[in-house]
Amino acid sequence: MTVKTILSTKGNNVVTIEPTATLEQAIAMLAQHRIGALVVTGAERCVIGILSERDVVRAMWTRGAAAFKEPLSQTMTREVVICVETDAINDIMERMSDGRFRHIPVVAQNRLVGIVSIGDVVKQRLSEMQSESEALRDYIQTA
Ligand code: AMP
Repeated sequence: MTVKTILSTKGNNVVTIEPTATLEQAIAMLAQHRIGALVVTGAERCVIGILSERDVVRAMWTRGAAAFKEPLSQTMTREVVICVETDAINDIMERMSDGRFRHIPVVAQNRLVGIVSIGDVVKQRLSEMQSESEALRDYIQTA
C-alpha cells in the first residue's frame, strides 16, 4: 500500500497558509478547520514550512501573547519531511515515528498535492487488517 491509496480516499485538499500571515490567523485556521497542522506554502504551492499546534504551544510558552502578532514564519518548522505518492505507507510510519511528528505533506514536481496524517495511516492500516482477517476467515471456512 502506498500514499496514493490514502489520497484516493481522502482527496488532495490541504489547508495551507502563507508565511506572512500572523500566528493569530494561523490559530484561527487550525481551530476553524479542526486540524492539527497547516502547510506553509510559497509560489506555485511549494512547501516552505509546516506549523503544528505543538509549535503554537511552544511559541506561547517562550514568547507569550506577543507571538500572536508575529508572522508565523518565526514559529513554523522549516525543514519539512515530505513524501511522494509512490512511497509505501510503512515508510511513512517509520518517518513519523523517527521524526516524532504526525503530518507529512505529499509533493509532486515540487508542488503540494496532499497531506498524510497519523490518523490517515492508522485508518488505512485498520482497514488492511480487517481485509486480511476476513480473507483468512474465508480461507479457513472453505478449506
Ligand atoms: P505534529 O506531531 O505533526 O503536530 O508536529 C510536531 C512537530 O514536528 C512540530 O514542531 C511540527 O512543526 C513538526 N513537523 C510536523 N510535521 C513535520 C514534517 N513533515 N517534517 C518536519 N517537521 C514536522
